[in-house]
Amino acid sequence: MQLKRHFSLKFVFLMPLVLSAIVLALTIKNYVDLVNREISDEYGRIQNDLSRAAKLVTAIDYSFTNYSKSQYIFLLEHNRQIKNSVCQMWPIDALLLTDGRNHDMPAVDINYMLVGTTELCDSDSDVYQRVASQVSLAPVLSFMHDIDETILGVQYIDREGYLMSSPDTYAKQATAELLDTIKARPFWQSTAQNPDVISISGPAPIAATSDLVMSLTMPVYSLGEHQGMLSLDIAYDELMDTRGKLSGKLEIINATTASFPDNATRVEQFNLEGVRGDHHLIYRLDPIKEIGYFVSSHRYSLLVIGFIYVFSVIVLFLINTRVEHGYLKDLAAKDAMTGLLNRRGLQDFLVNAQHGEYVAIAVFDIDNFKSINDTYGHDVGDNVICYMADQITYSIRASDAAARFGGEEFVVYMSGSNRDALKKSLLRVQQSIRSRSQEVVAPGFTVSGGVEIVDEAQASNFEALFKAADEKLYQAKTSGKDKLVF
Ligand code: GH3
Ligand code: MG
Ligand code: MG
Repeated sequence: MQLKRHFSLKFVFLMPLVLSAIVLALTIKNYVDLVNREISDEYGRIQNDLSRAAKLVTAIDYSFTNYSKSQYIFLLEHNRQIKNSVCQMWPIDALLLTDGRNHDMPAVDINYMLVGTTELCDSDSDVYQRVASQVSLAPVLSFMHDIDETILGVQYIDREGYLMSSPDTYAKQATAELLDTIKARPFWQSTAQNPDVISISGPAPIAATSDLVMSLTMPVYSLGEHQGMLSLDIAYDELMDTRGKLSGKLEIINATTASFPDNATRVEQFNLEGVRGDHHLIYRLDPIKEIGYFVSSHRYSLLVIGFIYVFSVIVLFLINTRVEHGYLKDLAAKDAMTGLLNRRGLQDFLVNAQHGEYVAIAVFDIDNFKSINDTYGHDVGDNVICYMADQITYSIRASDAAARFGGEEFVVYMSGSNRDALKKSLLRVQQSIRSRSQEVVAPGFTVSGGVEIVDEAQASNFEALFKAADEKLYQAKTSGKDKLVF
């Protein structure tokens, strides 16, 4: 009998595991691709923001270089006061400054302040005259500061030691000491030495708060002379904020002054036109946080993977159970060696069989089988038994049945409308076994049989029919073998 292979327990658990692992691997790959895309997008955004800021600085620089020649006295519209030995100036009314502007344009918060040494408040001083030529640009600073949320402040620091800043909070904190020392500071020196480029610095805390800023600074030159410095501060935390898109942190590292942290990935140097600095963008990878973020953002995919696993295990279990069930059923009804029905299988078959007018039960037994076993061995004996089973199967119709009742004793059920036809059919079975028997064992062999044929009405008592056929087999054996007794 053909035994159907069923899945081992290892296979039942491992196969779905492999499947789930493949799906999980694909999901993780998707996630990694997504994170990398997000990082690239964020890098793009940050570089964009900084490029914009750089353009702003350039634009203001351009204005300072050119407009400072204009002599329009604008300072009359400003308040002045001396506070803590510092002269402060701020617009009297921001609306005055916007006079003549198209009021359909989006409103700009005009908010700036100038600070300088006390002589700045003296309208006869040189520095007052100098400021007068530059103050018309203060609203531009204010406008620039307002243009982007990430821009914290814009300042112009003049070589004469005054400072123009938007918003005014920056200037309010300026002290006389700061104004005195500003030109001695390294950023002033390094920026001044690079007139045609924007220098980037930071992240560094600004004086007033502990907020970190990135600064873009650019010297202002007019008629080949260094006039002062423009500086634009960008809120670092705001710039680095990924709005929850990434679990790790984006950071800017100035490679000249700081080293990269161990968990830095996706290290990329800034690529900003006209900007000087050794700054790099990095993504700080925190594996635990990243996994947590992956799990929470892909929880439904992970649930589906879990479901696929459990479902596959259950399906394989069910297939196994069905195969085993079928196998056990076969085992109970069939003869394992030949695949024919066994005694019980034949009995079950007869219960449901649609008999014709006559029913024949034949019992076949190989003649002198013991000597085949003795001469050629048990294996050849087994082959003979299987050969006989095959010959019987080929010689009967699909509506007939053949069974092996142990040893080399075979029972054949046939049904038909004609007694003689049944006899002929059974004789044909016997002859077909004998005719090619030499193929399985050299001298060939013969079989004897006893056949009981009854009306369909008497077919219900199988045991009686079998007994009668068996008795006729005995007669065949005792009367010379190689024959059928009817
Ligand atoms: P007879 O012509 O009277 O039938 O003589 P015999 O030698 O065939 O005698 P019998 O039918 O009693 O033979 C039964 C022998 O069949 C006994 C046993 O050794 C052998 N036998 C029973 N089952 C198997 C089997 O599964 N395989 C093999 N090789 N031999 C079997
Ligand atoms: Mg025999
Ligand atoms: Mg026998």
